[in-house]
Amino acid sequence: MKVKHSSRIYLSQKALKTNINFIRKKVGQHPVISAVVKANAYGHGIPQMVKMLEKAGVNHFSVASAFEAEEVLESCAPGSRIMIMGILYNEDIAWAIEHDIEFYVFDYNRLPLVLEKAKALNKQAVIHLEVETGTNRTGMDRKDISKAITFLKKHKKHIRFEGVCTHLGGVESIGNQFKIQPQIVKFKETLRELKKKNFMPPFRHIACSGAALAFPDTHYDMVRVGVAIYGFWPSPDIYHLHLQDAGKMKDAPLKRVLTWKTDVMDIKHIKEGEFVGYGTAFQATRNMDIAVIPLGYSNGYPRGQSNKGFVLIKGKKAPVVGLINMNLFMVDISHITDVEIDDEVVLLGKQKNAVIRVSSFTNFTNLLNNEMLSRLPSAIPRKIIS
Ligand SMILES: *Cc1c(COP(=O)(O)O)cnc(C)c1O
Repeated sequence: MKVKHSSRIYLSQKALKTNINFIRKKVGQHPVISAVVKANAYGHGIPQMVKMLEKAGVNHFSVASAFEAEEVLESCAPGSRIMIMGILYNEDIAWAIEHDIEFYVFDYNRLPLVLEKAKALNKQAVIHLEVETGTNRTGMDRKDISKAITFLKKHKKHIRFEGVCTHLGGVESIGNQFKIQPQIVKFKETLRELKKKNFMPPFRHIACSGAALAFPDTHYDMVRVGVAIYGFWPSPDIYHLHLQDAGKMKDAPLKRVLTWKTDVMDIKHIKEGEFVGYGTAFQATRNMDIAVIPLGYSNGYPRGQSNKGFVLIKGKKAPVVGLINMNLFMVDISHITDVEIDDEVVLLGKQKNAVIRVSSFTNFTNLLNNEMLSRLPSAIPRKIIS
């Protein structure tokens, strides 16, 4: 694109490196860190994050779908690995095999199909067997696992049995531990069966960020880390477990990678009693100075911030006044002196000593951190900074 976009995202290589180093310290030297870059790398941008992660020493990437795998493939280095944890249509299995892309198998009936495609291509498919342990999303039931093991043993030549895995449903919350512990027990049953049959794959993996940061017995041979890579604690519970572990009252080892910025588009001086924007959502209680911001809910700024959110201008918080429109919103700058058109506006991240966190978007609304981030439109330009 030749013209300037209405907002810009900056990604900090230094913050990412700090996060990767911290995760590495938590999980130790053995497990492979697989960076989860689904949902356009949690809104950060797949092409940029893949390059940055490789620079930070990560070369295994997990995605939720074949179309995300394709995006990673376009930006990753030749030696990097890609793993599809979710949707891969039958018609794309051959594509995955051709490009050495690893994928989960959770349906026994898929195995003969994989075999057929691998034979046709004269190439090994690389698969991870996903075990049902209690989340009841995808995952193979126990009775099919034994059958699958027999099948995989028989067809080693065409299918490489790379991993066995499951996903813990809600490990972030201490309140869910009653549900997580039986999942781990069930996973271990499968491991025992594999051991007995002398057919253990190189990678056992069950840990997402929460488990990787707080539960060492879930680390096994690979951790699939998403949200923590981008500098977010998966939950307050996991943060508090870290503080206990570190013996500290306060600690900030994870750094936010993303900053989102725009600029002041226009400035208005309005009189007491006037309304701002659509309808009557905001009426000035005094004479006010208002800045117009050139983006709205169609550009990823949540409508739930209407009359509630803040942006940063000249290092000060400017509250949103009125509704977030499709492509515009307004903020009160009455208390900030010398604001000019084109001045920098921080929507998310730091400016001088002030900061807007994702949690300030999600505390008021029922948006999740991940939801807010993953909805940042891919059209916003992303720039890597040191
Ligand atoms: C999204 C996802 C992860 C990563 O979760 P985080 O909590 O963001 O670390 C790991 N495994 C699976 C199967 C996932 O879908």
